[in-house]
Amino acid sequence: PVQIQQLSKHFGSLRAVEDVSFDIRAGEFLTLLGPSGSGKTTLLMMIAGFSRPTRGSIRIADQEIVHLPPHKRNIGMVFQNYALFPHMSVGENIAYPLRLRKRGKAEIEERVRHVLDLVQLGGYQDRKVSQLSGGQRQRIALARAIVFEPRILLMDEPLSALDKQLRETMQIEIRKLHDRLGMTTISVTHDQREALTMSDRIAVFSHGRLAQIASPSDLYEKPANRFIAAFIGESA
Ligand code: ATP
Repeated sequence: PVQIQQLSKHFGSLRAVEDVSFDIRAGEFLTLLGPSGSGKTTLLMMIAGFSRPTRGSIRIADQEIVHLPPHKRNIGMVFQNYALFPHMSVGENIAYPLRLRKRGKAEIEERVRHVLDLVQLGGYQDRKVSQLSGGQRQRIALARAIVFEPRILLMDEPLSALDKQLRETMQIEIRKLHDRLGMTTISVTHDQREALTMSDRIAVFSHGRLAQIASPSDLYEKPANRFIAAFIGESA
């Protein structure tokens, strides 16, 4: 349901994102992959509504959204620098997006319980964020992102702070949750292996441009150029 058309973001003379166009299907898990500085986060920030495109269009279900503020876009996000509120309990953190949307008390309680069960942290409402492990915090951040049932979930390096084993467990959990909720997910990572295991398609970026968008197997077997072959090959 997402259409990105000729999207650019320039910072002075720097073309952080340059003339990027692609569509994302409903229910698809798309990963943005590319070296540091290739424009992945900038693209995600434009979709989320925290950064205004220099040019181009973003449509969700045929509606232009570039002029809408973040909370009117119906998009959930798990960003590295969009951390949990440390002074609030787990339940208050998760309830926050619902309060922002003026949902009633009973509905908030019911939904918080429901998403805590989904991320397998049932009963954690009253815990303090500061008492949780990294993996638990990451799951709470995910619960907060999906509690208002967004059509679209954006994730920026959601697992990079976790150790290898937990990262692999979370990859499986997130993919399951995505399938179960029927969300459309766009995830950014540096980790080629993570992209190959989690995604329906991968969009590879280089210097702000979309170099190729394809399924993991097509990307592996039919890379469009040497840069992509070398970049994907790094994980092998
Ligand atoms: P990483 O994998 O390291 O997070 P990335 O692919 O997400 O990198 P971006 O963070 O999107 O890359 O950055 C793309 C380019 O835009 C970089 O050269 C970066 O320095 C630049 N950039 C990003 N945000 C700003 C800003 N607010 N002002 C100026 N330049 C910016």
